[in-house]
Amino acid sequence: MKKQRPKKVNETLSDKRVRAGEILSLLEEEYPEAKCHLDFDGPFQLLIGCILSAQCTDKRVNEVTPGLFKKYPTPHEFARADQSELEKEIHSCGFFRAKSKSILNCSKALVEEHNGEVPRTMDELVELAGVGRKTANVVLGNYFGIPGIIVDTHIKRLSTRLGLTTNSDPTKIEYDLNELIPQEKWTIFSNSLGDHGRTVCHARKPMCGDCMISNLCPSAGLF
Ligand code: SF4
Repeated sequence: MKKQRPKKVNETLSDKRVRAGEILSLLEEEYPEAKCHLDFDGPFQLLIGCILSAQCTDKRVNEVTPGLFKKYPTPHEFARADQSELEKEIHSCGFFRAKSKSILNCSKALVEEHNGEVPRTMDELVELAGVGRKTANVVLGNYFGIPGIIVDTHIKRLSTRLGLTTNSDPTKIEYDLNELIPQEKWTIFSNSLGDHGRTVCHARKPMCGDCMISNLCPSAGLF
């Protein structure tokens, strides 16, 4: 499918903030229950779920994690795990070698440097193996209540279609959205925009005719 660019919107930063605020209000109304789609009990399970979810669906991760956390309940058990055994456990999530390595190294660092606890700052989280800003913001926002824009595949696609960013680098997109959305709403915006991407603004065939933010979207009807 040919990649479509949103129509050019001539608007000031303050106009764009107003439009982003209107988009946010409609998203909040439409997806009042928007939340992280990974099942987890505590920040460590969420962190591991995020590592497993790279290039994999949340549904698949949720099928794998109950058995995984039964076998390895805390970072201590993961840190002592045999890598090839761990690879078998997470095989169906894809990239099982890289992911098992990340999980082992991440767990070791948690045990050795953080007393077995998940740290609650961006700087400390991104030092952990397999953890980038996206995962850090998922954990900070969805467990610790510290808001963050979560630039996953849906946020990337939708923020571009909505003309809220012209960047393709996830960190730059995050900073662009930080400028447009009030800080306390960063996680809510991410989760509800993600839900909109899953249900209406699909990658291949966005359903612009059924989209409640189409009046605010420069890409409406382009597909
Ligand atoms: S109008 Fe179309 S492209 Fe824009 S957000 Fe809605 S579904 Fe996506």
